[in-house]
Amino acid sequence: MIRTAVIGGGISGIAAAFYLQRYGCEVDLYESADRIGGRIGSECFDGNWLDFGGKNIGRKYRRFREFVSEQGGMDFEYFGFNTSQVINGKVVRLSKEKDRLFNILRVLSLAGFGGTMRLLPLIQAVQKDHQQGYLNTPYFNAIAEQFDSKPLSSFFPTGCTEHLIRPVTVRMNGAEPEEYYPGNFGSNLALVLDSYEQLKQGMHALLDRFRENAKLINILTGKHVRAVERIGNTITLHYSSGGEDATAAYGRVIVAIPAIQAATLFGDTLPELSALLGQVRYYPVAVAIAKYEESVFPDMQRAMVFDRHSPLSNAGAYGIHDLDIVRYTFSGKTARSTIAPESVPEEVIALGEKIIEPYFTIRKNCRRFFVYKYINPGLCAYSPYHYRTLGEINDLLRLFDGLALTGDYHSGASIEACFRAAEASVERLMQQDTA
Ligand SMILES: Cc1cc2nc3c(=O)[nH]c(=O)nc-3n(C[C@H](O)[C@H](O)[C@H](O)COP(=O)(O)OP(=O)(O)OC[C@H]3O[C@@H](n4cnc5c(N)ncnc54)[C@H](O)[C@@H]3O)c2cc1C
Repeated sequence: MIRTAVIGGGISGIAAAFYLQRYGCEVDLYESADRIGGRIGSECFDGNWLDFGGKNIGRKYRRFREFVSEQGGMDFEYFGFNTSQVINGKVVRLSKEKDRLFNILRVLSLAGFGGTMRLLPLIQAVQKDHQQGYLNTPYFNAIAEQFDSKPLSSFFPTGCTEHLIRPVTVRMNGAEPEEYYPGNFGSNLALVLDSYEQLKQGMHALLDRFRENAKLINILTGKHVRAVERIGNTITLHYSSGGEDATAAYGRVIVAIPAIQAATLFGDTLPELSALLGQVRYYPVAVAIAKYEESVFPDMQRAMVFDRHSPLSNAGAYGIHDLDIVRYTFSGKTARSTIAPESVPEEVIALGEKIIEPYFTIRKNCRRFFVYKYINPGLCAYSPYHYRTLGEINDLLRLFDGLALTGDYHSGASIEACFRAAEASVERLMQQDTA
């Protein structure tokens, strides 16, 4: 049996291990932290498990839902799409729940004629073929070739950029439209066109199930891989564990960590690969979740996005029935200049409360508890001509049998895209075995 390792115990590594297990492979799953989950991780406070990162699951997340059902199945609850923003002093709502036609007209008016003409063909491409809603697909690679010399802010008119495009890129990629490129936008559109649920028991319950069911997967937490090197016919991992350095040799390795972290593994051994991985951009995101004595949001207005002058990019109800729990997300340029890794959580959340106070019931609504996390690397914003970068990475990997890479920079940042990329990385290694 070929010894197989996966580096990274986030959802990409979990997905890779899951697909390897389907092939009957025994897997060592290396995770530097003391538990798996990475950016779908949760924290427990006062008996409440709260998810900080990825938790909204699209109805079109086929692979992820298959994974959940193979863990024994779990209940989902409706999350929906319901948001609002302030434009010229007026609160403008967008929701897929009621008045569908009214909302479509509202989107069109926010996009303006020029924006609509730009958006329509992109939307149609994703609607016609859902596969175009990932990174590195023919339609959007052609868009990249034509337009990636300039950022997304040059692709759409200003009004459309500020009111429709920015809320999407800042939320999903932590990037302003001037930091994001047209060729990558299909991966955002697919998410906007989906509708959402979340796991009733949260992501931590799914991770528990995965640990219980992981018959062929040896989960090695607290093991930080520092370098990956080919020695003879094997791939050697240099890792540290409890302050001690160690090595382990494998026939197959899948690296399932963010590109900028993967770059450090190959700095000495494959500098060209390391340089390419280093081109992929990530932006930090701070998330605070606070529970209040009473409902903060009314039923039909469960979230709000804020403009580029605000460090708070959006605030929303944790779930459709959790109107008293606010999830504050700080991302984008102003957030980066306002909030640092060492910022005091209490001050960050007070800032969030001050920003939402004019619109929601926060004053005199007693805060019962909050949890806070500064996530870095947080959100992946890829690179201009990103598909070319991926092509060059794949070309280099052809010279390195037994090694595959996966993660949020391959197909897209959504949980489903992480599964899609992980599946492809496993298929690649299996094909090498049979070649
Ligand atoms: C705030 C936020 C909200 C999001 N919301 C959604 C959402 O609602 N729906 C959705 O679909 N997606 C969402 N996403 C995106 C999605 O959650 C992420 O893209 C996905 O979780 C990334 O998983 P990953 O495994 O690729 O990376 P990570 O989660 O970062 O996992 C990498 C793991 O590898 C470990 N590691 C790193 N380096 C090493 C090393 N050298 N050795 C060993 N271990 C290492 C890390 O500790 C980590 O556990 C969100 C992301 C964020 C940040």
